[in-house]
This record gives sequence, structure tokens and C-alpha cells, in this order.
Amino acid sequence: MIKRAIYPGTFDPVTLGHLDIVRRGLELFPELIIGIAENPKKRPLFTLEERKKMFEESLKEVGLSGKVEVKTFNSLLVEFAKKEGAVAILRGIRIVSDMDHEFTMASLNRKLYPEIETIFLMPSEEYAYLSSSAVREIAFYGGDVSQFVTDFVKKRLEEKFKKGQSR
Ligand code: ADP
Repeated sequence: MIKRAIYPGTFDPVTLGHLDIVRRGLELFPELIIGIAENPKKRPLFTLEERKKMFEESLKEVGLSGKVEVKTFNSLLVEFAKKEGAVAILRGIRIVSDMDHEFTMASLNRKLYPEIETIFLMPSEEYAYLSSSAVREIAFYGGDVSQFVTDFVKKRLEEKFKKGQSR
């Protein structure tokens, strides 16, 4: 049986840090599913479909599309993982403060579904301080996000904030 992992997140939008984790995940698992969580509580800037499209196009742009499938979900993560037959959940840890929240989530997920393991991966140092929220903030003020996201995402951010200004 091929071992499959899930990399879940809001990905609002996907950054080069997320793609770095995908690259590392593929070293461990032959198949990876990106699970984009609808996450209405976070009031995402991009719709679920926009976030999916951005992830797919970004994977192509960095040459990672082959073994990765991008899916969306609006259920409990463990339910989604079960449905997809995943044996592991991948999460990225950037800085120590991420641990607090991630550890709680992983412990709860283990209680709900003991068969699944959460695996924490560390990105390359250059992405250790990168977050989707920082990217949104920089783009909102018209800053250059080229070193943080793919060209496709950069264009989508520019469009989003241009539209916002004309409202
Ligand atoms: P969530 O709302 O689930 O935290 P995010 O899209 O913010 O969704 O993040 C998804 C996962 O990717 C989380 O495990 C997060 O810690 C990780 N992550 C976010 N940014 C980076 C980054 N720059 N480098 C590595 N991992 C990251």
C-alpha cells in the first residue's frame, strides 16, 4: 500500500514556505494531498476555489505538480484524513511559538484518530519568518512580495487589492 500524507492548511495564499514543506514532504511520502481548509472562522481573503487554483498553479511553477493532489475540505481534519486514507498529517513549524498551537492540535487529533501520526517539518531558514498574513499585509500596502510567493500568487494578490481599492 502506498503511504499517503496530508498537508492541511488555510493557504490564504500559499507561500514559498508552504511549498518548501511540500518539497520536504515528498522526500518522505510518495503521495501527498494538500488539504485546503475552508476555515470561514479565519475570514480568508481568497475563496476556497481561488486558494486551490493558486496552490495548483504554484506547484506547476516550482516543478512539484506530479505527485501532489490539491483538495478542499470543510469537515474535521481527521475525518478528511480518514476519507483520503492518509497515514500522516504534515505540519510546518517555523518558530518555537508555533509549537504551542500545533502541539495542542496534534494531541487532539491523536485522541480523535489514534492511527494517524502528525509529522512536523522545518522549512529552510529563509522561510522561517514567512506567513500568509505577512504576505497579505505587504501586498495590501503595495509592497513587493516576489521573494515570498510564486508569480501566479503575486498577480492574484495585485488583482485582489486593486479591486479592493475601487470599491
Ligand atoms: P493554518 O490556518 O492551518 O495554520 P496556514 O496556511 O497558515 O494554515 O499554514 C499551514 C501549515 O503550514 C501550518 O502547519 C503552518 O505552521 C505551516 N506554515 C506556514 N507558513 C510556513 C512557512 N513559512 N514555513 C513552513 N511552514 C509554514
